Amino acid sequence: CGIFGVVGVTDAANFVALGLHALQHRGQEAGGIVSHDPDAGFQSARRFGYVRDNFTSQKVMETLPGELAIGHVRYSTAGSKGQTAIRDVQPFFGEFAMGGAAIAHNGNITNANTLRRELIERGSIFQSSSDSECIIHLMARSMGRNIPDRMEEALRKVEGAFSVVAMTRTKLIGVRDPLGVRPLVLGKVGDGYALSSETCALDIIGAEFVREIKPGEMVVITPEGVKSHFPFRPQPSRFCIFEHVYFSRPDSILGGRSVYETREAIGRELAKESPVDADIVCPVPDSGTPAAIGYSLQSGIPYAMGIIRNQYMGRTFIEPTEQIRNMGVRLKLNVNRALIRGKRVILVDDSVVRGTTSRKIKEMILDAGAKEVHFRIASPPTAWPCFYGVDTPQREKLLAATMSESEMREHLAVDSLKFISLDGLYRAVGEAEGRNNACPQYCDACFSGDYPVIPADKVDEGFEM
Ligand code: 5GP
Ligand code: SF4
Ligand code: MG
Repeated sequence: CGIFGVVGVTDAANFVALGLHALQHRGQEAGGIVSHDPDAGFQSARRFGYVRDNFTSQKVMETLPGELAIGHVRYSTAGSKGQTAIRDVQPFFGEFAMGGAAIAHNGNITNANTLRRELIERGSIFQSSSDSECIIHLMARSMGRNIPDRMEEALRKVEGAFSVVAMTRTKLIGVRDPLGVRPLVLGKVGDGYALSSETCALDIIGAEFVREIKPGEMVVITPEGVKSHFPFRPQPSRFCIFEHVYFSRPDSILGGRSVYETREAIGRELAKESPVDADIVCPVPDSGTPAAIGYSLQSGIPYAMGIIRNQYMGRTFIEPTEQIRNMGVRLKLNVNRALIRGKRVILVDDSVVRGTTSRKIKEMILDAGAKEVHFRIASPPTAWPCFYGVDTPQREKLLAATMSESEMREHLAVDSLKFISLDGLYRAVGEAEGRNNACPQYCDACFSGDYPVIPADKVDEGFEM
């Protein structure tokens, strides 16, 4: 999901709408905005679909007045799937002591089932099926003296990955979990401030990037300034390495590094680790493009746009049903026949999850008359599900959970298939020595099975780590 908030600017909701539009790649199912104005109080609008279709009309934006607003774009990883329940669309708002609060959450709470059961037993009335709603109830029940204190207390009970943007009647609040799994950045806009999942959304509103919120940090922001606290027990951070590979936008800056440059470096590493003789290097657009450019630069094999992407399709993987995903590949990607015929082609994609994309692409490339097809993948085999806010399917559906690299090559029926090594990926994100196995610098659980937080709910449901 994507989260965004601003304080201290006129018509804050308009800034939030723009920010969410720039974060649309993080969630395309639904979006919502909550604003606050001293006269109108809290106001909210939550809709299915794209930000541009919902939060551009004057009619909607007029209902969201004030100098303080937050918003969320949704990609379902917990709660209902797809566009079925508007009640699961964030931000969530709750009225309780001191005027209440609204929150927008990116990540996944790994002990949400337990928290929910306990809260319901003690009288909380849940409005949604979302894990994130627990935070509001925990805040409402807290005896803290002010809302930031209540939020601290609530979040100390929550396990898993959370970047949160919240608002009271007067304050904008941002928090990252102690491991800092999901991103969150601070920007300065005019006389006010902004919080955003990624820097690309600061650019769109003309905000200046100030800094990242640190893992385990809470910032409480008013137009007067930013106050920082560290409410959690300090731990070595474990930022999601898959944000670098796929999830974030290439024009964002993560951990002081351009995502684009990291992806290009991944492609270079891949070319060093797994060279092959071929005529052209083609990306599976858009997610494979920077890595393909890196592969081409390193290998000297010409880069070519052998697959063209229909720009009017979103991220197909994000579609929650298998049927739509299957259709999705053809609706989204088409082979540039003239380029492919008779060629030995290296195809570069960011990841293989279920194998849907690679299987279809291979068929299309062979139909177009390619002589050889070589897959190069910019991440290690995805062998484990993510429980921290990326929607990987159950373990059984992951190609790499049941097959070795050579079995996957046979299954996809391609001339060769190579994934970047975990160490190669770490080198590309700037860790010259590779992965520190004693204390890994990132979360890489979907590749390694090394889960930095025990996914308690899943373990209860029978998941074996
Ligand atoms: P597959 O078709 O193998 O199931 O998925 C691989 C494709 O989906 C890749 O092209 C990649 O760009 C995209 N992808 C991989 N993992 C994720 C994810 O967790 N979320 C989203 N939205 N897309 C993904
Ligand atoms: Fe990111 Fe993978 Fe960890 Fe999930 S399991 S947070 S996708 S690195
Ligand atoms: Mg892709």
